[in-house]
Amino acid sequence: MTQCCKSIYRTGYRGRQCAKSAKVEREGKWYCGTHDPEAVANRHNARVAEWQAAQEASRNLREQRDAALDHQRRIAEFGQWCMVEFEFERGIKWFEGQDKARELGLLP
Ligand SMILES: [Zn+2]
Repeated sequence: MTQCCKSIYRTGYRGRQCAKSAKVEREGKWYCGTHDPEAVANRHNARVAEWQAAQEASRNLREQRDAALDHQRRIAEFGQWCMVEFEFERGIKWFEGQDKARELGLLP
């Protein structure tokens, strides 16, 4: 059986040929399942896709967190506005409260 043509390098050792028997021929050279350039490329692409998915997931989390923080900030601002209105003892008409909440994006 043909031997895999790939040389393996380890630190402190001289390169030696992969001991596995070859399974596929690519452009005249024989490779085992591990060193088949197509398999290597597939593993690389899978890693890249995994990394991209992780990036995407953390970006989504960040966006969700930022949106939640912004919402919290607007609720706090609404609360502050209510307190100021009470302080002036003028009371808040329901439509004023509604307008303010709408202005802060807390109501549609
Ligand atoms: Zn090999």
